[in-house]
Amino acid sequence: MDQTSDVTDIKGVGSEVAKKLELLNIRTVADLVYNYPRRYDDYSHVQKINALKPGQVTIRAVIKQASGTYVRRGMHITEAVASDETGSVRLVWFNQPYRAAALKSDATYYISGDFALRRQRLSIQNPSVEQETSFPVNTARIVPVYREAKQLKSSQIRKYIREISPVIQKIRETLPVWLLRQHKLLSRSEAVMAMHFPQSDRQLHAAQKRLGFEEVFELTLAALLNKQQLAGEHAVHIPFDQKLAQDFVRHLPFKLTDAQRRTVWQIYQDMQAKHPMNRLIEGDVGSGKTVVATMAAVMAIKQGFQVALMAPTELLARQHADTIYDLLKPLGMADTLTLTVGGLKTAHKRAAHESIRSGKARFLIGTQALIQEKVDMHKLGLIIVDEQHRFGVEQRKKLQAKAGHMPHVLHLTATPIPRSLALTLYGELDVSIIESKPLGRKTTVTKICSPNSQTQLYKEIDKQLDTGRQMFVVCPLIRDSNVLLASSAESIHKKFSEGPFKHRRVGLLHGKMKSEEKERVMQQFVGGELDILVATTVIEVGVNVPNATVMLIENAERFGLAQIHQLRGRVGRSEHQGYCYLMLGDSQPPSPRLRALEQSNDGFKLAELDLEIRGPGAIYGTMQHGQLDLRVAKLTDVRLIAAARKAAQEFIDKQEKLVHYEQLNSRVQQLRAVTNLN
Ligand code: ADP
Ligand code: MG
Repeated sequence: MDQTSDVTDIKGVGSEVAKKLELLNIRTVADLVYNYPRRYDDYSHVQKINALKPGQVTIRAVIKQASGTYVRRGMHITEAVASDETGSVRLVWFNQPYRAAALKSDATYYISGDFALRRQRLSIQNPSVEQETSFPVNTARIVPVYREAKQLKSSQIRKYIREISPVIQKIRETLPVWLLRQHKLLSRSEAVMAMHFPQSDRQLHAAQKRLGFEEVFELTLAALLNKQQLAGEHAVHIPFDQKLAQDFVRHLPFKLTDAQRRTVWQIYQDMQAKHPMNRLIEGDVGSGKTVVATMAAVMAIKQGFQVALMAPTELLARQHADTIYDLLKPLGMADTLTLTVGGLKTAHKRAAHESIRSGKARFLIGTQALIQEKVDMHKLGLIIVDEQHRFGVEQRKKLQAKAGHMPHVLHLTATPIPRSLALTLYGELDVSIIESKPLGRKTTVTKICSPNSQTQLYKEIDKQLDTGRQMFVVCPLIRDSNVLLASSAESIHKKFSEGPFKHRRVGLLHGKMKSEEKERVMQQFVGGELDILVATTVIEVGVNVPNATVMLIENAERFGLAQIHQLRGRVGRSEHQGYCYLMLGDSQPPSPRLRALEQSNDGFKLAELDLEIRGPGAIYGTMQHGQLDLRVAKLTDVRLIAAARKAAQEFIDKQEKLVHYEQLNSRVQQLRAVTNLN
């Protein structure tokens, strides 16, 4: 048996169990090896019975008098007595009728469970028991607790992992020896073994340190190598044209913030350099990234290059086209702009393609359609990817392949990633952070509302609409569902237009509508022909309607923290005060997540809070980063991350050959493909 073996090669795993393991995505022995515990119960401290105190306990004792009875219908109790040399204690199991027969009288067992009061008597309730052995897995140790599937208990998984421990012991080392020494790391096989069956807390921490270190090390190495490669590429030269920049700024209806100014300046430097720019602009919603990107674009266009701006949705692409049209007009560049989205008519599309071919169109705005269609882009000088986490790496690669050379790349994102994470994830990008919002912007007032106070809230909202403002309503579902009890856009639309807001003009927008219809409704809302827009999260990203200052989020408990923050970014985009109401589905007290939203408007702070509440998975979830999952490393462990990043740099400085480390090499190449932008 080795890592590639099928799970059915493990003793005790038949086709039935294999099916259950498959529910946990475990098919091979390797899948089981790297199926780390969800948490641990500490039963390592074996106590004497006469010294037991209420709480989680473990004893070593002989079991006697096991018997089971039905006390009433559907309620079975098994009782037994456990004794050691100091005394006896009662064991009780609820609804485990097989227990009594499974216990051997007079055999010595390890028994772990909750020692608590029941019917005025102390007993150990629902304990795990395991006959005395040199390798206990369920008791008398720090016990691993695994994710369970239907009828597949953690205790079974423990047994299978004990069966494959010879395979774990044969796991080969992946890191250079000098690194292990320098950072006092466990060997890979020791670490994996200790993840499953740690001998002590200290050993568990050492295992986590070793494996987390390795993850960050690999990720950083991949990023550094990509960066090195990019530095070997030749860039198209886009010189800084001071007059053009001044013209652009002069025609803006506002003053650039310092952060915007600094970012634009960094971009202009990048585009004049020998190597292609690869920069990420990270700025909270409403921080004004579009203007910055447009300032980069005009510089390229002026030199005769094409610029491609890709947005994640058609709605957003259209809106960008509108905004950017207004920005280009005073410069006489508006006619270089072309929109290419899926929903365009064939004739329209053909005309667009033709003008791209002829060189008349230079600023190409679109969705994925930009890379799917036969558009000539041999003069592509700059790619701008808005909300970059929404694009798969494959898509990015395709767009770049089209150009035939490596254009400058600018990524824009409003996902506020804590700095430690950004450095690890985007090691190959230069990062500009727009940390401040335009002056005079008021922070959006956020309020959690219970369904009991609905009528009151509707009145309050109506007063705001009276002053000419507009409102977004966001629902978790498009239409009512039998399974999910949550507000749907269709039902809220009906309710509002017939009930509390029947004197208002209420529109509906969701992803199942035809593209022209979506466009028409959005235009009506932008043009002020609708007061209320009931929608799904289609409006989450980027939609800009400054007069819409009220947002009502239905069933707010169903949305993630980062997602609500994005949604909330739709209001408060003008000098008017913005309001965001988080309507709960029932009158239960709100979660700490929602409370945090009430208290903070800072995307970076919220992202860190989310990280604390839900773990790194939360951020990966919203970023859809696929293979970039850190399974062990804690992104809040700043010291570990720093050490691993430094080690990766050292590996390169030492001119170590990656090919000498077969497994490390294949892992790093895999990561490079995920993050690589070539
Ligand atoms: P995001 O960073 O979320 O993409 P946008 O680029 O859509 O933000 O900008 C949000 C709004 O702020 C737009 O209406 C834009 O015109 C405006 N804006 C951008 N920069 C400034 C500024 N320096 N001063 C005032 N308003 C600004
Ligand atoms: Mg934007």
